[in-house]
Amino acid sequence: MTLTPKQKEKILQAGKIASEVKSWIKPQIKKGISLLELAEKIENKIFELKGKPAFPTNLSINEIAAHYTPYYNDDLVAQGLLKIDFGVHVDGWIADTAFSVDLENNSENKKLIEASEKALKSAIKEAERKSSLGEIGKAVQETIESYKFSPIINLTGHEMEEYELHAGLTILNIANTKKESLHKGLFAIEPFATTGSGKIYEGKPSGIYILIDSKNVRNPTAREILDFISEEYQTLPFCSRWLVKKFGTKSLFALKQLEDNGNLHQYPQLVEVSHSKVSQAENTILVDDRVIVTSE
Ligand code: MN
Ligand code: MN
Repeated sequence: MTLTPKQKEKILQAGKIASEVKSWIKPQIKKGISLLELAEKIENKIFELKGKPAFPTNLSINEIAAHYTPYYNDDLVAQGLLKIDFGVHVDGWIADTAFSVDLENNSENKKLIEASEKALKSAIKEAERKSSLGEIGKAVQETIESYKFSPIINLTGHEMEEYELHAGLTILNIANTKKESLHKGLFAIEPFATTGSGKIYEGKPSGIYILIDSKNVRNPTAREILDFISEEYQTLPFCSRWLVKKFGTKSLFALKQLEDNGNLHQYPQLVEVSHSKVSQAENTILVDDRVIVTSE
């Protein structure tokens, strides 16, 4: 897609904020820190830097590959192999980035983290060479397999558009036959490496939602919350924690009604099938005349 100079400016701005938040939060991630506190620190910093969270901060531990965001009263603490995946948007233009940390001084964790980071680098190198999507996937797979780990085959990178976190193209993390290369636009590349069999299943509900239909709902509280969601998050994901902050715990019942009424979709947690550890690395790239990594 063709992006205007103004849109590119917002994309770069979102990337710059993401990058700043990342280097600011990294030294603060310690074993035992509450996940709730960590998510709020990240999200508050995004606001402080004049961005908005593009989705709830994902803080997924060990075999949970993605989609764990703390509940409003969460008491889980940072431990094991922790993936920190967060997003920033400026007027709907997104930077999506993730990194993993080892909180138990475990050499296998460290190797897993190195594998997904190297895979991300090699995928970006392929994108810079205008390689096909098939070759990008192959580079990810080969890099991760060179560490004797497996890529997760049913989690992919993705195109992004204005207020759309997952739009258009998907970028597989395994070799495939797609001959096309990345067109001009905005993409997130995100390899996952695991000691397990390399697939995820849909686990428990995550408390992360997306608006799918703004049709009317009878309950006035649910209506009020739906209006807020449409206005504030539009078509980007949000979580129950954010709504409890704004409306109190009555929003939990409203969310249930909105889900039952077909207004909202709730994402499940994504768990590795063999319950093995998973690492992730992710950056956003702007593909223009050249490739710019916006979130690094
Ligand atoms: Mn992400
Ligand atoms: Mn992503």
